Amino acid sequence: MEGNNEKIRERSLIPVLLSHHYMIIKNNPEEIQTYLVDAANYKGFCEEVVFPESENDIINIVKEANKTGKKITVAGNGTGLTGARVPEGGIVIATDKLNSIINIDCDNQKALVQPAVLLADFQSELKEKELFYPPDPTETNCFIGATIATNASGARTFKYGPTRNFVNKLNVILPTGEILSIERGKNFAEDNKLTLLTGTGSEIIVNVPKYKMPGTKHSAGYYVNPRMDAIDLFIGAEGTLGIITEVELKVLPLPQNVFSSVIFFSNEDDALSFISAVRNKSKDNPESIIDASALEYFDERALKFLIDDFPNIPAEAKAAVWLENEFEKKDEEILYNKWIELIEKFNGDIDNAWFAFDNVERKSFQDFRHAVSWKVSEYLVKNNLKKVGTDTAVPHEKFKEFYYSCKDLVENAGIDYIAYGHFGDSHLHLNMLPKSENEYSAAKELYADICRLSVSLGGTISAEHGIGKLKREYLLEMYGEKYIIEMAKVKKMLDPNSIMNIGNIFSEEYLK
Ligand SMILES: Cc1cc2nc3c(=O)[nH]c(=O)nc-3n(C[C@H](O)[C@H](O)[C@H](O)COP(=O)(O)OP(=O)(O)OC[C@H]3O[C@@H](n4cnc5c(N)ncnc54)[C@H](O)[C@@H]3O)c2cc1C
Repeated sequence: MEGNNEKIRERSLIPVLLSHHYMIIKNNPEEIQTYLVDAANYKGFCEEVVFPESENDIINIVKEANKTGKKITVAGNGTGLTGARVPEGGIVIATDKLNSIINIDCDNQKALVQPAVLLADFQSELKEKELFYPPDPTETNCFIGATIATNASGARTFKYGPTRNFVNKLNVILPTGEILSIERGKNFAEDNKLTLLTGTGSEIIVNVPKYKMPGTKHSAGYYVNPRMDAIDLFIGAEGTLGIITEVELKVLPLPQNVFSSVIFFSNEDDALSFISAVRNKSKDNPESIIDASALEYFDERALKFLIDDFPNIPAEAKAAVWLENEFEKKDEEILYNKWIELIEKFNGDIDNAWFAFDNVERKSFQDFRHAVSWKVSEYLVKNNLKKVGTDTAVPHEKFKEFYYSCKDLVENAGIDYIAYGHFGDSHLHLNMLPKSENEYSAAKELYADICRLSVSLGGTISAEHGIGKLKREYLLEMYGEKYIIEMAKVKKMLDPNSIMNIGNIFSEEYLK
């Protein structure tokens, strides 16, 4: 039980357990404020926030809500950028108390965790055991369950792919209160049909929507493919299909040696060409010693944003690239020489480049990357401004064209911005910083134009943040209404009374 100042009520929602258990339920507006908002500053409302302490608690709450038709929104740690955890009525299920690392199996490289384990804690616990979990969204103060619900990615996605690639098993409480245990590799769709078997033995047949997902990094709408693994439907579903209560994750041996560098360029085009060359060597040539695990970009404006905190950024730099490359000790010298050769070939500023010689320096370069996201948030709060930021990815061969077109659009509109992102994955975060309501409206229009451009080039409107409640209209435009209806049908099969995380991915009207 928590401190004295916290209201603790008997579980009014769970009459069956009333005589045996207590569960924290909060409804004091001040106490629940943090559950009504996320990092996008999108605000909602609810009747109360409940804090289940076990899978059974969740089952009971969900069964009761399913009976009464009460809406449920699942909360992670609130760092999402799309309003996905923000409730619009009903109750919030805060998973906070399900926060144990149940087991780390070093020999078999896997870990069993509850959903509210903080990603940062999980990563440091693994490090002590010489293990490593690659998914690294820039914000690590997030819950593992939520990173699965959003299929989070980060800098290392360039080499290792998104969260999806590391999920072996899931326990999911469906919106009916039934439990579903799914293991990767055990249940595949046939002819666009998935058959799910719940804990009580009932069978649910889901028609897999027939849209084709872009071949780029992508996290928008349900994952589909005609022969898909059932587990993939629940990864990136933004909590609309069930509550993740237990997860088995794949982990890897901790890389022992990592080359890490920040390289500055006096010409943006050189930096972009350098990124293309590194990508080609890393992806297309398995023999290449150049094998970047992270490949990130900062434009001149982003560098100016950071210069007070990182005064050794050369004042004249027009762009920078941060990269990492895992290697074996025996290859150290040859790797270093290969990188110098490549940097020089693309006119990188070798004299002012940063090279990490130990893990402390390496960490400071990672902080440099993370700082850009934080500095933007800090600037917006300080100046009471709202950001309009893209999360688009396009096919690699279209990226330069896309990037320059986006910059032209925003510059021609006279709106302040900074650009950075996971350019190894052709994934652009162009953050517009409008200074007035008029500029904000113009920025929103430009955002829509940029999404359209991305889709027209074969890309996505969201490569990692997801759709939530803030980006539905763009997903609707990307796939068209026909496929949004197919997605809603998937939800209806699993959530017949439309109670769970309503409003994420598509609007409620598609559930009627
Ligand atoms: C500065 C900054 C940088 C960021 N950088 C990145 C980045 O590089 N890559 C990236 O992918 N994201 C990034 N994000 C977004 C965010 O950190 C991720 O989306 C993260 O996964 C959200 O975790 P959370 O615990 O805060 O979840 P919340 O915001 O609380 O919830 C997110 C979603 O998960 C659902 N959910 C939570 N728990 C469960 C559960 N147990 N079962 C089912 N559904 C659940 C919620 O209902 C909601 O739909 C960034 C955010 C910030 C503020």
